[in-house]
Amino acid sequence: MKTYSDMYLDLRRSLKAAGIEDYNLEAKLLICAASSKSKEELMRDMKLFAFEPLEDKVNEMAKRRIGGEPIAYVLGEWDFMGLTFNVDPRVLIPRADTETLCELAIRLMQRRGADGMRVLDLCCGTGCIGITVAKTVQSCRVVLVDNSMPALRIARSNVLRCGVSRNTTCIEADALKNPPVLLGKYDVIVCNPPYVATGEIDTLDRGVRDFEPREALDGGADGMDFYRAIIPAWKTILKPAGLMMFECGEGQNKAIEELFLKNGFGSVGSFPDMAGTLRVVAGVMGQ
Ligand code: GLN
Repeated sequence: MKTYSDMYLDLRRSLKAAGIEDYNLEAKLLICAASSKSKEELMRDMKLFAFEPLEDKVNEMAKRRIGGEPIAYVLGEWDFMGLTFNVDPRVLIPRADTETLCELAIRLMQRRGADGMRVLDLCCGTGCIGITVAKTVQSCRVVLVDNSMPALRIARSNVLRCGVSRNTTCIEADALKNPPVLLGKYDVIVCNPPYVATGEIDTLDRGVRDFEPREALDGGADGMDFYRAIIPAWKTILKPAGLMMFECGEGQNKAIEELFLKNGFGSVGSFPDMAGTLRVVAGVMGQ
C-alpha cells in the first residue's frame, strides 16, 4: 500500500519520463480527480495511505495520459473563465483562445444594456461560451445549439453544473442548414464553428488530431464552410441591429469581414486574442 505522497512522487516521475511538460501540476490534478479531493485536501492527506483501488484508478488515468490523450479528457473536466465544464472526447476542450470571443460578447452586451437580451451560442459543444455569458449577465436568456446529441447532453450537464438552468436552454439544430422557426429572434449570436482546413487537421498537435472530435474541427477545404453557410442563413433570426460574432483561425478574419459586408452587416471588425492573432470577427445587422 502506498501513501498519497508515494503515489504523487511515482506519478510525477512517470509523467516526466513520458515528456509531459507540466508533470507536477498534472500529477496533482490526476490524483485529485481520481480521489475526488481538492488540492488542499490532497496536501493535507499526503502522509495517509491510499486504498489500492485508488492506485489502480490513478494508474489507469496515467496510462491514458501517457498514451497522448489530453489531460482534460482524462480528468473529465476543464476550466474556462473561472467555471469548470464537463468534457469528454465527443466535444472540443474549451480553449483559452475562446475567452476573446466570450469576453467581447459580454462587454458588447453590457455596453448595449443586456437586460432581457436573447443570446444564441451556435455550435456550442460543451456550452462554455453561452454558459459563461448566462452566468455573467444574469438578466439575459441563452439558447445553446449543436447538431450533435452527445454534445448537447454534455452542454446540458454543464448548464446544471454551472447553475444557469434558470436562463439557459439546449436545442438541437444544424448550423449548415436554415435555423428552425421555433428558435425565435436574437440580439446576439456567438459561434465558434469548426474552422480548420481539412488538409491541415493532420498537422495539428497529436492530442488535438488524434483525440478531439474531427467534426468540431473540420471547416472544409479552406476552413470557411461554416462562415459561408451561417452568415446568410442565421442572420434571418437576428433582431434589427443584432450582433453576430465568430471565433476564427489565423488569417481567416478578412474573408469573414467580407462575408459580413456582403450580407448587409455594418460596424464590422476583427479583434485580437492574447497572442495578438485576429481571433474574433463581429458585425452588426443592418448598420
Ligand atoms: N482553435 C482550435 C484548434 O486549432 C480549432 C477550434 C475550432 O475549429 N473551432 O485546435
